[in-house]
Amino acid sequence: MIILYQNGDSRAVPLLLNCDRQAIPSYESAERLWQIASGLQKAGGCNIQQPDVTHSEILALLQTVHEPAYLNFLSYQSKTLDQKTLLIEHDFVAPGVSADTPIIAGIFNVALEGARTAVAAAHQLTYGVQRAYALCRPPGHHAGKAWMGGYCYLNNAALALHTLIRQGFSPVGLIDIDYHFGNGSVDILQSVSEAFFASLHCSTEKSFPYQKTAPLNQRQVIIPFDKSPEPKAFLDALASVIEKFMIWGCTALVISIGFDIIDDDPHGGWNLPADIFASIGSLLAHVSIPLCFVQEGGYLLNQLETCAFYLGKGLQTN
Ligand SMILES: [Zn+2]
Repeated sequence: MIILYQNGDSRAVPLLLNCDRQAIPSYESAERLWQIASGLQKAGGCNIQQPDVTHSEILALLQTVHEPAYLNFLSYQSKTLDQKTLLIEHDFVAPGVSADTPIIAGIFNVALEGARTAVAAAHQLTYGVQRAYALCRPPGHHAGKAWMGGYCYLNNAALALHTLIRQGFSPVGLIDIDYHFGNGSVDILQSVSEAFFASLHCSTEKSFPYQKTAPLNQRQVIIPFDKSPEPKAFLDALASVIEKFMIWGCTALVISIGFDIIDDDPHGGWNLPADIFASIGSLLAHVSIPLCFVQEGGYLLNQLETCAFYLGKGLQTN
């Protein structure tokens, strides 16, 4: 497996707002990526590379996935805010969702490097690599065409998927196994006829984005769990989605991977064990088409290495 490790600075937002408009500490940090890289390396069978996608390609892809007014706003604020300001109230928030994610000076550049990493991972598949892993941050799956939320500004997984489609993969599936619902990915992919989307996630009414959700078309599979599933139930649901996507003829899969499904994650709420990632990896090891992993959440720092290790080991199952 080729791991693409994000370049650039380690800037991170200091807080989020919860649904009661109270500040909660941020758990999103560059250290998350160090821990995950360490776990994957300990599992073996991987090489780390730097993303080398040109600026012009990233900018062109961003225009495909996000609306220009949103990109301009994000870029302008990121350039002009002073170092102490947190800008939270603005119009670029998902319908019915309260603003929770600050814009801070320089954050657009961090998100841009995350996007570059995801696109670089997708490129690996076009070079014939069977598995690539974008170690990118901040996460992206809550970023829609024209809005941000839940730490997410640019939708890294959607950018990877568009890259694959541009390079001739079609159709492409995106399977989101982060604890949270990828509302941004759903928003972006609803109009992409060459994409299938599936998500396994917690109750969207009890957790972000705090609203009911449903598939927007027949290419989307939405599987919520109202409470922490048994490992077997989660794995059976994942297996059923993989089978469905194979029947639908997917030529590559993007996996939005979140480690926040495990016990004690500060943004989670389930009690799945870290070793479930060995079983997840084993299921994915038997998928015959190329896989592009894109890092989403996972915030329990002292368990990220372990989760990634199990995933890496599982992916080596024969
Ligand atoms: Zn999450």
